[in-house]
Amino acid sequence: MSIRSWWRRRKTKPGNLPVTPVTLNRSEHAISRSLISEHALKVLYRLKEAGYDSYLVGGCVRDLMLGREPKDFDVVTNATPEQVKGVFRNARLIGRRFRLAHVQFGRDIIEVATYRANPQAPIAHDDDDDENEGRLLRDNVFGTQIEDAVRRDFSVNSLYYDIRDFSVVDYVGGVKDLKQGILRMIGDPATRYREDPVRMLRAIRFAAKLGFRVEPGTAAPIRECGRLLLEVPPARMFEEVLKLFHGGYALETFELLRQYGLFRYLFPLTEDCLAQEENHFPRLLVPQALANTDERIAADKPVNPAFLFAAFLWEPVRQEMRRLAANGMKPHETLQHASDHVLREQLRHITIPKRFSIPMREIWDMQGKLSRRHGKHAERLLEHKRFRAAYDFLLLRAHAGEEGRELADWWTRFQAVDASARDAMVRDRVPEQAAPRHKRRPRKRRSTPRDPG
Ligand code: ATP
Ligand code: MG
Repeated sequence: MSIRSWWRRRKTKPGNLPVTPVTLNRSEHAISRSLISEHALKVLYRLKEAGYDSYLVGGCVRDLMLGREPKDFDVVTNATPEQVKGVFRNARLIGRRFRLAHVQFGRDIIEVATYRANPQAPIAHDDDDDENEGRLLRDNVFGTQIEDAVRRDFSVNSLYYDIRDFSVVDYVGGVKDLKQGILRMIGDPATRYREDPVRMLRAIRFAAKLGFRVEPGTAAPIRECGRLLLEVPPARMFEEVLKLFHGGYALETFELLRQYGLFRYLFPLTEDCLAQEENHFPRLLVPQALANTDERIAADKPVNPAFLFAAFLWEPVRQEMRRLAANGMKPHETLQHASDHVLREQLRHITIPKRFSIPMREIWDMQGKLSRRHGKHAERLLEHKRFRAAYDFLLLRAHAGEEGRELADWWTRFQAVDASARDAMVRDRVPEQAAPRHKRRPRKRRSTPRDPG
């Protein structure tokens, strides 16, 4: 799109906007200040006292209206980031693409954004370059509150809580949708997905988390637009995947992603395996891993992305190992090569930082080691820094019916009993067939014979 047509569109835009919002006053909604963090309240009041607009916006208003505890509190204002910095000594300006102020209270950060407009179209290229057509390349244009409301993704994510009179302001029918449990994209869904394909993943994430129905018009283009996810930078996909599967609703999210045909764009090799194994045991491993993740999060236990990736990619690794073995590779070499191959393919879609891919591979690697229990092997493995995760993974495999039930039970017992019972458990074990050692290369002859003395 040319600059000219972009301007033409822009000029007509304000006329299409819903200028009068619906306003719920204090008695018409359930948001109580006691549910808002003290730091967020401080920021809201200070901005108001300085004479600026001062609202909570986005997910926190949605969650407060639903009586849920918000993850974080986002503030929006008509003050520019520099003006915000002028109000708070503890503010830092961040972001190059779109500048924001972070107001810091110890480890807690309240993000303060300035209203921004959807610039509607990329500006930095001309008519015959349609590669980025429709994609949002810049979004650093300040705007009015209405413009800020309509550039958001879903109507329920576009509600404003006004600290002046404790009312909720709604330009896009979000209150009604919230009451009816509907997730509705603001504007034309297909256009909004083309602008930013990640919005499809967000639709799934919120539908799972809130238990909302995706409005039919919002759901309809997802199948067709799904492949646009292939163009999202893998680093952003990684961030999004963590949110999808570490939000406490991983199993539900996974089912929905598959239902909408999006899972294949996240983990294509896994999708291939799932499609083949629909009625077989291994299919259970991924859902089981996700159910465990949800349980851990519900119990406030830590979760590690390495474990999740290990579970997603395990079946592709096993298949590749079988293929390599069938092609004549020595069995003890297949894991290494299969892991390399699967990881390389996966990285084309989703970045997996080394701090997660290394432990992921260690978890796989340990699966073989866990079957070697004779002599001092078992004791030594218990000390391994990846033992816990590897053992949990073994339990998962056993539970999924893959193999290793006896092995998993053995390790459970081994950890539970005292030293003498452990000795007894390993005493009679015969060594499992270990991987043959690499043959030493014959040493090169030194050119000058060593002094024999
Ligand atoms: P969560 O509870 O997961 O934090 P959230 O709604 O707060 O949910 P954020 O990713 O924190 O989600 O984004 C804050 C707000 O910014 C959203 O509520 C939405 O209004 C807006 N937003 C975020 N991402 C997009 C996007 N890709 N397109 C349009 N608006 C977005
Ligand atoms: Mg948020």
